[in-house]
Amino acid sequence: MTVADSTSARASTSASGSNPNAAQEIAFEVAGIGKTFPGNPPVVALDNIDLRVERGEFLVLLGPSGCGKSTLLEILSGLQEPTEGTATFNGSQIHGPSPELGVVFQDASLYPWRTIAHNVELGLELKGTPTTERRAIAADTLASVGLAGFERKYPHQLSGGMRQRAGIARALATRPEVLLMDEPFGAVDHLTRIQLQHELLSLWERDRKTVVFVTHDVGEAVFLADRIVVLSPRPGRVYRQIQVDAPRPRQRGDHQLLDLEAAIYGILHELGADRLGTDGLAGPASADASGDDRLAADRSEREVQNA
Ligand code: ADP
Ligand code: MG
Repeated sequence: MTVADSTSARASTSASGSNPNAAQEIAFEVAGIGKTFPGNPPVVALDNIDLRVERGEFLVLLGPSGCGKSTLLEILSGLQEPTEGTATFNGSQIHGPSPELGVVFQDASLYPWRTIAHNVELGLELKGTPTTERRAIAADTLASVGLAGFERKYPHQLSGGMRQRAGIARALATRPEVLLMDEPFGAVDHLTRIQLQHELLSLWERDRKTVVFVTHDVGEAVFLADRIVVLSPRPGRVYRQIQVDAPRPRQRGDHQLLDLEAAIYGILHELGADRLGTDGLAGPASADASGDDRLAADRSEREVQNA
């Protein structure tokens, strides 16, 4: 594992600038992004964010709530414009949503009056894909997330975890190059969350799509990521970038991952993100953390203190 400050992480990514093919290997390039929401006083959500996401990379944006993770993800997905700086995807400025970018939110946001298959077909309908082809793609994609046989059910007939899988299937159905995921497992119970993390990694290992995944859960970040970008609390800035070199498939409870978790709790402590009075973070300060999370967090905290 490598814990680098953002300066040295930038230095190491810029080394790829000498590679003539480097441009094709970069999916997103964010330079000097700022976002201020108007109001009295205005809210500076993001400040001077520089970030590159490589093609096929599993990048996790981690930080306490309110630090601008969703805002940054929405800028990448074309749902919001930055107030400063530029964001490009495959070398072109991002202007509005694109079928290349599949987006998954915390709440699967399925239409309750549509069957699961019809929800999954939505993006294909917008693209004008013919009905028979749409049906076949929806069935295939639902099967790939373990929902074969549920095509004709309605969202209320599925569990929370199944609805999230359907949301992922909907994002995958248009065969996007990229998955942008905003706390997609935040609303499901702990064991389902673990299962969904495994399933997502299996899908990713098969297709190697570029994934940008937002979470405030340290354990989730460490388990999933190739690289973790830690954002500081308001205004959101890139505080650290952490390369996660642990081999895949990863084992939960692996020492390397637990050590990294401990190091990240240390970083969040530096940021004051684990103290009362700041917004929530999964782990020691979180009211909704499960017993397991709390034990792991307590252990990590002790490891940091004893280090
Ligand atoms: P996170 O996803 O990390 O919890 P957000 O990106 O949702 O953070 O929000 C970052 C900051 O910007 C917060 O202070 C939030 O209140 C503010 N914010 C987000 N969206 C808006 C908006 N549309 N108008 C005004 N303030 C907003
Ligand atoms: Mg958010």
